[in-house]
Amino acid sequence: MTDPDVIVVGAGFAGLSAAARLSAAGLRVLVLEARSRLGGRATAFADRETGELVDNGQHVLMGCYTETLAFLGEIGAAEHVRRQPELAVTTIERHGRVSRLRCPSLPSPLHLLAGVFGWSALGWRDRLAVLRMAGPLRAAQRALRDAAPRGDHVSAGAGSSPPETVAAWLDRHGQTPRLRELLWDPLALAALNQPAEIAAAPYFARVLAEMFGPDPAAAAIVLPTRPLHLMYAEPARQFVEERGGAVMTRARASVVLDRQSGLEVHCGDRRWRPRGVICAVPWFALNEVLVGDTTPVAETLAAARATDPSPIVTVNLWFDRVVMDEPFVGLPGRLMQWVFDKRAVFGEAASHLSLVSSGAADVLRWTNPELIEAALEELRGALPRVRDAQVVRATVIREPRATFSLAPGHPTRPGTHTAVPGLLLAGDWIDTGLPATIEGAVRSGHRAAEAALSTCVR
Ligand SMILES: Cc1cc2nc3c(=O)[nH]c(=O)nc-3n(C[C@H](O)[C@H](O)[C@H](O)COP(=O)(O)OP(=O)(O)OC[C@H]3O[C@@H](n4cnc5c(N)ncnc54)[C@H](O)[C@@H]3O)c2cc1C
Repeated sequence: MTDPDVIVVGAGFAGLSAAARLSAAGLRVLVLEARSRLGGRATAFADRETGELVDNGQHVLMGCYTETLAFLGEIGAAEHVRRQPELAVTTIERHGRVSRLRCPSLPSPLHLLAGVFGWSALGWRDRLAVLRMAGPLRAAQRALRDAAPRGDHVSAGAGSSPPETVAAWLDRHGQTPRLRELLWDPLALAALNQPAEIAAAPYFARVLAEMFGPDPAAAAIVLPTRPLHLMYAEPARQFVEERGGAVMTRARASVVLDRQSGLEVHCGDRRWRPRGVICAVPWFALNEVLVGDTTPVAETLAAARATDPSPIVTVNLWFDRVVMDEPFVGLPGRLMQWVFDKRAVFGEAASHLSLVSSGAADVLRWTNPELIEAALEELRGALPRVRDAQVVRATVIREPRATFSLAPGHPTRPGTHTAVPGLLLAGDWIDTGLPATIEGAVRSGHRAAEAALSTCVR
């Protein structure tokens, strides 16, 4: 492509959602992706032995991922996810007790209260304690509502001062140890990818405000039914290409900043001078991508360098038989907090389980045999059928930079606009007020596309 209107650097959820939005508006878009496959931190690859397309880690969406679901609809991939009608989660405790939280389709927050009050794992003290979260939840929802018409991001959340951790916030609001163990801590760890003792409370308040907002289905779990890159990345590529754009892989780009001559994008021996550039790379790649006179973005680059990552470790186990009946089960208080049965993706014949360890800094350096043994041990305790089943294959996937740290005092996240004319930023790291999630990435991508449409092009 000789003269794209906009170049998008990076083909994860952020870059591809931006590219799709711009293509739909009739712009000629060129997407440059450094790796050989699309999808970034939400992708899949062929397993060496089975040839099965294996995700780089289980990804869970929620009903409140409104822009992600709209993006999937826009690119014709709405059928690539399966959505619960309402939040329902089965939990198996360490001593084997099985219970189910089900939040019926009642107006918010009655659905949460009805769910918690009907949850057999909790005693009356725990159930009553949840009522104390109504105030902070309402405050977080108000902050979200007030910010929406102004397009603000509510990055500070509500009901908590910035340096407070999730654990301190929950304790301050009288949440019992059991409620924390079974409900809040697993939810915080899954949503923030950091333990409640480390992550900052405002992000959790924001997640709860979105999950338990007016639509009871916002809290429902939405699971991909295709390997990740086929779920959204390849459909997005097709969508862009059908509208005159191009998507290149193995195309590591740099964006050269020059006050006199403006923006230039370099990739190998190719050069482009588009009207706009959306840099949709993760925080840890930004310093390599932006080169030349970077003084106007020095603060953003320094913040990116100072941002700590938070890892996720996944253990995949193939069994010789089916060992669980549900698509996923929560395993609170374990090293691997969730187990997913991948039959929805690979069909009834397969028996491929995926165990997820979020906030996995402590286990990142364990050896593969240690991780696999730990996963098996926890599964044998939770799922009786595993005890007689044979493991056919086991693999470990480490994503050391799965997300960024949300610890109090972390560097400021940048906005969409930069001080360089024509240069926009996207990615889950952009200040959307959300933790590092697919929805954060897509919202940032859409925001960058809107900004490109209004500032760079028109
Ligand atoms: C194992 C795992 C599990 C997760 N689970 C969940 C979950 O359940 N729910 C959820 O919402 N989120 C989850 N996340 C987080 C989610 O995957 C990310 O927030 C999201 O995918 C980030 O998208 P992005 O587009 O911002 O960045 P990325 O996906 O990182 O995309 C950026 C792209 O830029 C490319 N790039 C970098 N440098 C260059 C260059 N110089 N030139 C060209 N391209 C370049 C990269 O190769 C990459 O493809 C999980 C993440 C991991 C790793």
